[in-house]
Amino acid sequence: MSRQVIDLKTVWQTALGDLEVALSKPNFITWFKDTTILTIEDEIVHIGVPNSFVLTWLSNKFHKDIFVVLQKILRETPIRALQFEIVRSATPTATKTKLGRLPIDLTSQASLVDQTPSVDRSDATRMTTSLNTNYIFENFIVGTHNRLAHAASLAVAANPGSHHNPLVIYGGVGLGKTHLLHAVGNQILADHPKKRILYASCEQFATEYVHAIQTRSMDHFKKRYRDADVLLIDDIQFLSGKEGTQEEFFHTFNSLHQNGRQIVLTSDRTPQAIPELENRLSSRIIWGMVTDIKSPDVETRAAILTQKCRDRGQQLDQDVIELLAKTFQSNIRELEGALNQVLAYCELEASVPTLSVVEDIIKNQYTETRLSVTSDQILKLISGYYQIGHQDLLGKRRNKEFVYPRQIAMYLLRYELSFSYPQIGREFQKDHTTVMHGVDKIEKELRKNPRLQHDMSHLKDRLYHHAAG
Ligand code: ADP
Ligand code: MG
Repeated sequence: MSRQVIDLKTVWQTALGDLEVALSKPNFITWFKDTTILTIEDEIVHIGVPNSFVLTWLSNKFHKDIFVVLQKILRETPIRALQFEIVRSATPTATKTKLGRLPIDLTSQASLVDQTPSVDRSDATRMTTSLNTNYIFENFIVGTHNRLAHAASLAVAANPGSHHNPLVIYGGVGLGKTHLLHAVGNQILADHPKKRILYASCEQFATEYVHAIQTRSMDHFKKRYRDADVLLIDDIQFLSGKEGTQEEFFHTFNSLHQNGRQIVLTSDRTPQAIPELENRLSSRIIWGMVTDIKSPDVETRAAILTQKCRDRGQQLDQDVIELLAKTFQSNIRELEGALNQVLAYCELEASVPTLSVVEDIIKNQYTETRLSVTSDQILKLISGYYQIGHQDLLGKRRNKEFVYPRQIAMYLLRYELSFSYPQIGREFQKDHTTVMHGVDKIEKELRKNPRLQHDMSHLKDRLYHHAAG
């Protein structure tokens, strides 16, 4: 099926059909209403969206889902990236996709597939390289918190394979690691369009590896990863405990490294701190350059907000920017989420919101997500994160491995759900002074223990990400 024959509208309808199954209904309608495929050019799928709000959500949250679905549908037509673009609704029905017609008729999907000449199945995996073209150096703000990581990434992008190999960027959730990783890939691709850039999340690497074993296509898997000129693997902490995947990663790493190919990795902690990671692997990973990203200071947060507004052709008053920058401190993703709310409001109301309106929006957004979180979710999260049973978390045993997570759970109930001390006491069958003591201890510890700060930001991210999704 040549590219000209592809009916973009049908492709998108099919994709929407698949996505609708995977997402909850309200989520789906909110984010995919009035979206469309504009063109596919140079292996980049240009997706039209109605406003900046949707643009950010789709590119941040659903980028991978959309990519995977489109790739599956387009099969033989290689795609390497998605580009989201705002389409002002001047041309209504022509480009708009009617959600009313969903879910799409399965027969149209089947016929689309039928037209495709049989392809080597392995081709499907060849295309999983997905660079997000919205993550580039030009819109990445540099501050003291990320200066080194940024400089190292630039150096790698300018001379792949010769400096800092591998480059490892580590840091907490939502601080810009993935953005930098894509920026390196996008830059190299812009300078050397022929270079094979392979981006994959660590989970994707692991899944593909298992799939390769099951389908006896290891040769193909090996070739795919070892042929890359630049290998970008996101979130390598997920290698933890996966022995087979680690082994394969080790060999891939060595093969690429010996051949002078560039490797860039990200992680939420230093490689040495990843549990159940083989020594020979962690020691090899730190051969090149290891650099961290910290939380940005308030000025940098304001600069990031200004940049995000500019990216979307929007403007906000300085005092509004400052309010947002002061309110959202530790996580840039959260900061951006708040900005999105405000920008969406601007667009809906066709106005520039005042400080007090923004205060309201922030308050509502915050309480809304918070309200949707339950104590059960917190308890589940903690037992999963610290790998202890529900019984032990709520039980009486005083071993440190139970007491600590218990206190963290109490802290979260207190500060995220505003539970009273006696209320928390009832959950754990403890009296309220024990609860107060526990919450207090975590509060103090949070001030001086970076490890706990890191865990906490992780936990909150999971909690709200889960609640919002
Ligand atoms: P991580 O991978 O560290 O969890 P991401 O790279 O996904 O974080 O960043 C979260 C969001 O914050 C992204 O939308 C990203 O564009 C934005 N962001 C992070 N750091 C910066 C920065 N320095 N300048 C501009 N945007 C940033
Ligand atoms: Mg990331």
